[in-house]
Amino acid sequence: MASHNLAHIKIDELEILGYSVAAEETVVAMPQLDVCFDIGKAPDQIIPINNILLTHGHMDHAAGIAYYLSHRHFCGQSPGTILAPENLLGPIREVIDAWSRLDGNKVPANLVGVKAGDEYQIKPNLFTRVFPTKHSRGSVGYTVIEKRKKLKPDYTHLRGPQIVELKKQGIEIDYPLELPIVTYLGDTQYVDFSQLKYIVASKILIAECTFYEAEHSGRADAGRHMHINEFATLLTKLNNEHIVITHTTQRTPLRDIRRILKEALPAEKYRRITLLMDRRLK
Ligand SMILES: [Zn+2]
Ligand SMILES: [Zn+2]
Repeated sequence: MASHNLAHIKIDELEILGYSVAAEETVVAMPQLDVCFDIGKAPDQIIPINNILLTHGHMDHAAGIAYYLSHRHFCGQSPGTILAPENLLGPIREVIDAWSRLDGNKVPANLVGVKAGDEYQIKPNLFTRVFPTKHSRGSVGYTVIEKRKKLKPDYTHLRGPQIVELKKQGIEIDYPLELPIVTYLGDTQYVDFSQLKYIVASKILIAECTFYEAEHSGRADAGRHMHINEFATLLTKLNNEHIVITHTTQRTPLRDIRRILKEALPAEKYRRITLLMDRRLK
């Protein structure tokens, strides 16, 4: 029996599983990419995923770290990898050590500290790039990027054997191409993310938009979150084909959030939007 009733989205062939409600829990997994953004309370369904990309240390995003690591060990899986802002590595180690003592079993972990600008390889053709967000000290977001090689225009007319021959001669016939698949903003107040081209060009944007009602804009500022007015401004500068909204407040019912989004966004943006929490089994 799964621990969570997760939302489930399919975009082309890519699956997104998750749960995200402000102040309660946030975890967003993409199994085919082998990444899970934040870990929430470690739902059973995400335990097999090898890479956890933690954006910041707030309890609702990070509480499940020790359980995730320990449960993998219990099931005979390799130690999970946790990418986290480098200023959090000390406290994360302390939490894992404390749980090891409580549990009576060592909890194996592969911890990787990251800061804005870092890159980390997930698979041979897939890596994540880290960018800064404005939420808590050291908080970051992640873009997962596929690396491909493309034939240089000079060689596109050649046939297979000719290409093989050129390769044998050591001639560089292709150039590296980066395809940003998904950007996960995590918790953040408004930042002009359009300055980072790989965010603008990401096929999928997974973004927090916490507050929707006019009288909640002060709450957005205080908690360093986005209000729909700021989110609408941000979207005018981005070009993502699919936009998944996470981290919605419990103060506003989902049906009202849908209505406010429709009013606030141009139709061509609104049709790209999926509210993560709309996609749960009823
Ligand atoms: Zn949060
Ligand atoms: Zn937070």
